[in-house]
Amino acid sequence: MSRIAYVNGRYLPLAHACVNVEDRGYQFSDGVYEVCEVRDSLLIDERRHMARLAFSLSELRIAMPMPAAALSVVFHEVVRRNRVRWGIVYLQISRGVSRRDHPFPPAGTAPSIVVTARNMDFAAAEKMAENGVAVISVPENRWARVDIKSVSLLPNVLAKQAAREQGAREAWFVDASGHVTEGSSSNAWIVTRDGKVVTRQADHGILKGITRTVVIEAIAAQGLTLEERAFTIDEAYAAREAFITSASQIVLPVVKINERPVGNGAPGLIASALRRDFHRFAETS
Ligand code: PLP
Repeated sequence: MSRIAYVNGRYLPLAHACVNVEDRGYQFSDGVYEVCEVRDSLLIDERRHMARLAFSLSELRIAMPMPAAALSVVFHEVVRRNRVRWGIVYLQISRGVSRRDHPFPPAGTAPSIVVTARNMDFAAAEKMAENGVAVISVPENRWARVDIKSVSLLPNVLAKQAAREQGAREAWFVDASGHVTEGSSSNAWIVTRDGKVVTRQADHGILKGITRTVVIEAIAAQGLTLEERAFTIDEAYAAREAFITSASQIVLPVVKINERPVGNGAPGLIASALRRDFHRFAETS
């Protein structure tokens, strides 16, 4: 079965789904994206992802190409046409097509929109969570507005590749003061020796993950103590547990940071419980 993509109003087989060479997403990475988990063919936390999309678009002064209700119909249709049961739906909106020139294109230039979806290997993901993953650290070298979910991901790509080349799943960005900001495609968390769950405050220096927001609700419901503050890489080495969160990975225990075992070197109880309970706190649509 050929995968189907939605491109500017049409559902097309992936091989025929093309964007213009003068699309500003392609020329300048002048665009934003969203990724939603699909579980049992339902979208997880669509409402929150839409709200963050509206924020990213407004920060970059790109118009929403269609009403949120219409976009929701497209999301569900792309999931249905690709028979996605467990996987992700991906949305990208760029500032549209215009002769290559840095300033914004003429008023009225339509934003471009692409939606794709794909199945993921559920069993492999569960296995990874059971074993836990390794992370490495890399110097923070991104721009100062990573709270905008922009498609400009070059530092994230290089960081992820460095992780993979060192046998790790994720790379954590560490700023000049030694504090972990977040992962290349996930938020970073630790559990301190005295059981406090710590993740960096959601300022301009991290993407405010939707999974992060839902996990914070789960933490409150479980009566755990949350600290939203920056933590250092040294604190992470000394932590009892560590984990990462993202829509495509939910909660993934971290068992090694720069080759040093975290806690007893096995997935932590809190991370595993948060992964297990996550969908009780998430919305489905
Ligand atoms: N931080 C970065 C840099 C990301 O790319 C992502 C997800 O792609 C996240 C955090 C987690 O965000 P979410 O939980 O909304 O997927």
